[in-house]
Amino acid sequence: MSDRIPHIVIVGGGFGGLAAAKALRPASAHITLVDRTNHHLFQPLLYQVATSVLTPGQIATPIRGILRNQKNTTVILGEVTGVDKDLHRVFVNTADREGVELPYDYLILATGVRHSYFGRNEFEKFAPGLKSLADAVAIRNKILAAFEQAEAEEDPNRHRDLLTFVLVGAGPTGVEMASAIAFLVHKTFKSEFRRIDPASARIVLVDMSPRVLGSFSETLSKAAKNRLEHLGVEVRLGQGVDQIDEDGVVVAGERIASRTVIWTAGVAPSPAGKWLGVETDRAGRVRVQKDLTVPNHPEIFVVGDTASLDQDGKPLPGVAQVAMQQGRYAGKMIRARIKGSSAPRPFRYFDKGNLAVVGKGFAVLQSGKVHLSGFVAWLAWAAVHLEFLATSSLRVSVFVQWVWTYLTDHHGSRLIVNHRDPEQAGLKPIEHAVPKAMPAMK
Ligand SMILES: Cc1cc2nc3c(=O)[nH]c(=O)nc-3n(C[C@H](O)[C@H](O)[C@H](O)COP(=O)(O)OP(=O)(O)OC[C@H]3O[C@@H](n4cnc5c(N)ncnc54)[C@H](O)[C@@H]3O)c2cc1C
Repeated sequence: MSDRIPHIVIVGGGFGGLAAAKALRPASAHITLVDRTNHHLFQPLLYQVATSVLTPGQIATPIRGILRNQKNTTVILGEVTGVDKDLHRVFVNTADREGVELPYDYLILATGVRHSYFGRNEFEKFAPGLKSLADAVAIRNKILAAFEQAEAEEDPNRHRDLLTFVLVGAGPTGVEMASAIAFLVHKTFKSEFRRIDPASARIVLVDMSPRVLGSFSETLSKAAKNRLEHLGVEVRLGQGVDQIDEDGVVVAGERIASRTVIWTAGVAPSPAGKWLGVETDRAGRVRVQKDLTVPNHPEIFVVGDTASLDQDGKPLPGVAQVAMQQGRYAGKMIRARIKGSSAPRPFRYFDKGNLAVVGKGFAVLQSGKVHLSGFVAWLAWAAVHLEFLATSSLRVSVFVQWVWTYLTDHHGSRLIVNHRDPEQAGLKPIEHAVPKAMPAMK
């Protein structure tokens, strides 16, 4: 590398990208972090926005706010559409321009995943997934609107499908959502409706797999299933979803009439592998080497959910800890290269354990030989989630909200907010797309 100050581009301000940016704070480099949203999102608590416990602003923070004291870093709101790895360029669509070229000396791709409907994309229209704040607010609207519609509906025969909620996928998100909806109908909504009994709502959790929370031990899976059933959730395992449409779902040949079907089953990586034209695993995640770079390109790192790396013969899971540790590693590796010091040892994931919450005061925890379920696990779950929120103000706000909800049984944010479409809101679509190079970073 010459005396010129290197330019590092990070794509994605999620767990991996943000950890990389922070690790590069002491680096003598210009850093540009590009994200298509202006906020860092704490996805593990998305389900609490979807079920009205928290507001969107309690789990997300503007990325430029988090990095405000990091003078070597510029944050750009834009969508990356491709990479030219030979010319060292990233292509970005910003609010008013398309294909803006952003040159880099080092590139870190941390673009996460999106929903996957396992080839049945037609399901998406009827069964939204939970990945972004917009998804969470849309699901919250859908759940709350179903109760409002049922209350307004004189014909009791029509209440059944309005008050049936089907969740497809019994991983942590499906389990957490199902138990939170159960809490909503049995506690928060109690005595708020006159024509319907919210507690009569049917909550169905479906999965092909033979157990809920498949990544946990069998004992913990069983404890979670028992808890769900105790909360009134109907758990249907080993059953595939054959069809999802406007009338509901067909599960193992049986039709379940429902107006609210939520998809928590599958994810697919971002198109980073296609941008780079490099080897991917079967799911489409970029195969990275032990230093998290792609073969023959020591300047390109891929981290987090969109990367694929095996450790001890098994692929690393798509969880926040992996993304954060990989982001930090990529940042440290680039710093070492810039300084000309010796490279860190190959990346190794340190697994701190797994947690999932199943309703009020109950969680499952698996960390090494420690396997716990119940209240103590729930306290650990709450402490860990508070610790990893992006700012202290979020920590205080979420803590106060949780204490309030715990004491009063009331979910905090039960507003149906329908956004107007962009044209109605007075936002103009892009008229002229002018490709242009981004100004050099100062
Ligand atoms: C509902 C839900 C619950 C979860 N619960 C847990 C949990 O309890 N524990 C746990 O450990 N993990 C959990 N996870 C998984 C965890 O959130 C992910 O493993 C983690 O977010 C991965 O980090 P990442 O940096 O790879 O991707 P992300 O955090 O998803 O960040 C990707 C970023 O890239 C941006 N981006 C994507 N494409 C582009 C583009 N083309 N141009 C510009 N920007 C782009 C996105 O806007 C986003 O900010 C959960 C995930 C979800 C969806």
